[in-house]
Amino acid sequence: MIVYRKADVFSRRDAAYFHPIEAAPQKELAKIQEERLRAQLSYLGGASAFYRQKFASAGIRFDDIRTIADLARVPFTSKQDLRDSLKAAPPFGLHLAAPMRNIVQMQASSGTTGNPSYIAMTESDAATWQESQARGLFACGVRPGDFTLHAFSMSKGFVGGVPVFQAVQYMGAVDIPVGADGGVDRLLNACHDLKPRVVLGAPNFLIYLAEAVQQIRHHPATAFGVQRLVVGGEPGGGIPSVREKLSALWGAKVCELMGGTDIGCIFWAECDYQQGMHMVAPDYVLVELIDPESGAVLNMTDSARGELVYTALDRQASPLVRFRSGDHVVVTGTSCPCGRTGPMIRCFGRTDDMLIVRGVNVFPSAIQDIVGAMQPDTTGTVRVLADFHGHTTQKNLKILVERGYSYPVGAAADLKARIETRIRNALSIKVDAQIVAPDSFEKPGAKKVALVLRENPGLWAET
Ligand SMILES: [Zn+2]
Repeated sequence: MIVYRKADVFSRRDAAYFHPIEAAPQKELAKIQEERLRAQLSYLGGASAFYRQKFASAGIRFDDIRTIADLARVPFTSKQDLRDSLKAAPPFGLHLAAPMRNIVQMQASSGTTGNPSYIAMTESDAATWQESQARGLFACGVRPGDFTLHAFSMSKGFVGGVPVFQAVQYMGAVDIPVGADGGVDRLLNACHDLKPRVVLGAPNFLIYLAEAVQQIRHHPATAFGVQRLVVGGEPGGGIPSVREKLSALWGAKVCELMGGTDIGCIFWAECDYQQGMHMVAPDYVLVELIDPESGAVLNMTDSARGELVYTALDRQASPLVRFRSGDHVVVTGTSCPCGRTGPMIRCFGRTDDMLIVRGVNVFPSAIQDIVGAMQPDTTGTVRVLADFHGHTTQKNLKILVERGYSYPVGAAADLKARIETRIRNALSIKVDAQIVAPDSFEKPGAKKVALVLRENPGLWAET
């Protein structure tokens, strides 16, 4: 049952984690997950025409899949499968597995590759979303009794809006529902009037917000006394240069979280030890790590890299099995002093963002990381000019880099050479860097930062 606030939530204020399952021994957890997996598949056998067809065409019966290892036999569900499904049976697709009268809530994905896609929730689904997000927020340092300033987008049906609001409320904190779309002035007024202990938002937007404080209110953002920044929605929170900047600008500890609209908003979150994000909802989401090329399942051992694949457990309305998230992660560790069990991860890019430069895969966030580390010679701002069709180029990759505010214009050639060398050494790709003036690019507003430009903004000059 969906509730405003979880019972006895204040008694958990000083707990090490929000729910004991976060610290369950892996063996015990696997047992719970397998029981839930069998129950979920049995539900899908009855309720999901989409998965009945998918299993039938793969020649598998639902009750063939008894264990996590068995799951490897089930074909993946791709984003394209979902797009086709939504198109075939709008608004919630052929994979809707609950009667329409049981749908109590819907959300939309940001639709990075086209139209928004819609997902549906029953009351039970909405309750599991609240619980899993609350665990994530708690891991990131939000506590019952806190005021949290909401600086994720509140509009457009995005999961950073209403669902995050619901989870903040459920875990005993009070959301200040301004939203990135409410504008900088309102957000800063709320900071001044309500003194939130926590600010929630996209990392690049929170940098922009902190920089606006000086201009608008003539004091540094540190004067607000915010103690925690909880960031997500884009990879920046895991990029060391972005994190350090954020932390310095606000004088606050930065923790990141991650999830995905298609599965349940927030289910990865970082704890006080900041070693990577823990899976906080293993009873609702079964995670696999795969080799993105071969699709083979990889062990989540230290330093393993791959793409995350999710199977929803205990999901009624828009359930997915072996969903390829497109999130590429590295396992940063397998044990943490906080007591949470299971591997920790950082996300370094999304399949949608990946470019292939003469056969070498590269994520724009990796280029941003390198340029960001070259501050103050650069402002940390870079754009990739992908003026080619699709994701693949056989030429050097064009990038535009803002020189630092006090970096001499006359020394641009030296900066260009250093950037090109660093990127070649770190990422094994050749770039052509063009140095441009500071503040050439719009700073992030309510929108996510687009690191990749598809058209020359007029700043690229062929040499
Ligand atoms: Zn931890």
